[in-house]
Amino acid sequence: MEIYLDSNATSPVLPAALDAAMAAMRDCYGNPSSSHAAGLRARAVREAARAAARRVIGAPRGRVMFNSGATEGIQTAVLSALCAVRECRERGEACGDLLLYGATEHKAVPESLAHWNRVLGAGLELRALPVDADGRHRLEVLRELAPRAALVCTMAANNETGVVSDLEGIAAALEHSPALWMVDCVQALGKLPLALGATRIDYAPFSGHKLYAPKGVGLLYVREGAPFTPLMCGGGQEEGQRSGTENMAGIAAFGAVLEALERGDTFRGHAQLAACRARLVAALRQAFPGIVFNAPLEQALPTTLNFSVPGASSADLLEIFDAAGVRVSAGSACSAAKAVSSYVLDAMGLDPARSASALRMSFGPLVEDATIDAACERIMRCGRALRLPQLSPSPLLKDHEQGMLQLDAEGQTGWLLFDAGARACVAIDPPAALAPRIAAMLEAGGYRLRAALHTGTDSAGAAALCALAGGAPGWPADCPELNLGAGVLARVELGGASNYLYVPAAGDARYVFGGALGLAAAPLADALLCGSETERAVAAAAAPQDETGMELDAGAALRLLEQHPDAIVVDVRDLREHGAGEARLHGRAAHNVPLARLAEHAPHFIAQDGRPLLFVCRSGARSLRAARTLRRLGHAHTWCLAGGLALAH
Ligand code: PLP
Repeated sequence: MEIYLDSNATSPVLPAALDAAMAAMRDCYGNPSSSHAAGLRARAVREAARAAARRVIGAPRGRVMFNSGATEGIQTAVLSALCAVRECRERGEACGDLLLYGATEHKAVPESLAHWNRVLGAGLELRALPVDADGRHRLEVLRELAPRAALVCTMAANNETGVVSDLEGIAAALEHSPALWMVDCVQALGKLPLALGATRIDYAPFSGHKLYAPKGVGLLYVREGAPFTPLMCGGGQEEGQRSGTENMAGIAAFGAVLEALERGDTFRGHAQLAACRARLVAALRQAFPGIVFNAPLEQALPTTLNFSVPGASSADLLEIFDAAGVRVSAGSACSAAKAVSSYVLDAMGLDPARSASALRMSFGPLVEDATIDAACERIMRCGRALRLPQLSPSPLLKDHEQGMLQLDAEGQTGWLLFDAGARACVAIDPPAALAPRIAAMLEAGGYRLRAALHTGTDSAGAAALCALAGGAPGWPADCPELNLGAGVLARVELGGASNYLYVPAAGDARYVFGGALGLAAAPLADALLCGSETERAVAAAAAPQDETGMELDAGAALRLLEQHPDAIVVDVRDLREHGAGEARLHGRAAHNVPLARLAEHAPHFIAQDGRPLLFVCRSGARSLRAARTLRRLGHAHTWCLAGGLALAH
């Protein structure tokens, strides 16, 4: 069962909303602008939805218009405010020169401000309003800037942290300001009480899909008397405020959600939601000792958690949770090895490492206790998976005590040779960016770093690793060869650079690190070349590369497994992902060979050339790399699952 804990990104559709959308498309399909009966029925649906919206957001007066969502609402608000500023200037009246926005606003806000400021040639200054360590706007700064502000944009609640803004405090700070005020209410709907008509808020955008309505429908509230300029002109729909034939299925569905909110019989209230969150917090604390929460819970929406686990990146955690069937999101955008920190957490002054390792867990007010029970159980499973030792011998290669781990970062590849019996290891070309992670891995497994080597001229990674794990970079003095216990490493100076030959005690495999040796030495022509560039990290001297039909969709993969009962299904996800949730394809369990351990297993697979290989992973990217490598090494019967396990179930 999939557990969806990413409601701040979007939500499933409420059954009553689905019914309403279906009815709008099937029975009530008229154009609400038509004056015949079919049109009148559609108009009645639209107006009922609008009336419900007015009651729910507490706006008996002012404009309430349907649109495509908050991004459109934000554009409309910004355009309206900037047009008003221009008119004000044309009349020779003083108006502010600042466009102020909260530093933690959704990107739709600063991007729209910059866009319309440029397009309209308004020439106003964009300024981010700082937040404090709790993520709340710094009101003393706002008070100082308020007299100069033309437009102030603040959100009701933050999408990454759930931090709820002090709207009363902001209103007080703006008391004598000429500024117009937009409040992004996207994350507040259904979770915070709203009475917009009783405030001085000028514009409030909403998106239906954040609260169980479909994507592509939203609404914008504009205070009575606040300046307004339509973003879209044409047929004059929505009383000329937003032209274009209405998305009636979306409006009907949004209306059903708003009516459910109003009735109060469908969604859970604040106390119950806070109790659900408290159970998740307790499970997370138990599963991940050392966890830190990135926003004070008492000041956040009861449905949002943002946390970091020291030593684990957002990408690591995201993959482990995904493998356990728990859909969460990173508080930041990440690439495989280099984590990009979250601008929201950065603005709160969090340490960059903590900001780059944040994860968000969010649920909606329809959440059930059974979902929270299951989530807590899986959180515990994820905690256990995170603690699995990274450096252990492969169960697939029975007599082997040694292992080889490929280390990729920013297009660079390094290698870690380890012997589990002797608890010794050698690093070759370790990427500097990964030095802290490698050092932590060695410490956790009780491994001693025997040497940190480099094949080219760049020794920065080896030096960085030695600084953390001990020892001096380079080949140890007076040492003709390095005996690791389960394998022997020799150095060969060739082509003006250091090359290394690794011969494990068990099996016939030989590995060459550094390009020159394998190509130059004929007896090593069948050795595996382990390079320092990720794209072709593992290669053979002769490299046939027929990739025809290599990617199979789920149906073709099933046919392959039916035709070849001896085929080997290999899950190339990380050890910890596999630990959090085993991969099964059409009922068959997969062997786990993490992509980073492929070089070590390649000779084993090649030795069974007759048996087809089917690589699988989460999204299809890593299994494609694995299949490419095996084909390049001459294993013609190699395939991978296109789109990954995500599409196969
Ligand atoms: N504002 C906030 C706070 C959001 O969370 C989002 C969506 O993530 C938006 C605006 C933009 O909403 P939409 O993409 O539905 O237009």
